[in-house]
Amino acid sequence: MKRGHVPERTCRGCGQKAPQSGLLRFVVVDGRLVAEGRSGKGIYCCNQSLCRDRLAKSKKVLKAD
Ligand SMILES: [Zn+2]
Repeated sequence: MKRGHVPERTCRGCGQKAPQSGLLRFVVVDGRLVAEGRSGKGIYCCNQSLCRDRLAKSKKVLKAD
């Protein structure tokens, strides 16, 4: 194990990279974001209301890929 390596994820609200542990994970289920979803496509978002709001309104995010 290399020391100091922190897995990073990108916030889909603002595009900033942050440690995975500092981001909220959502899953798209039936075209909606679910915070506690276990399966499905994972989307990460930082814990800012602005980003969560943006994410919730973004149809692009839900239809990505
Ligand atoms: Zn963000």
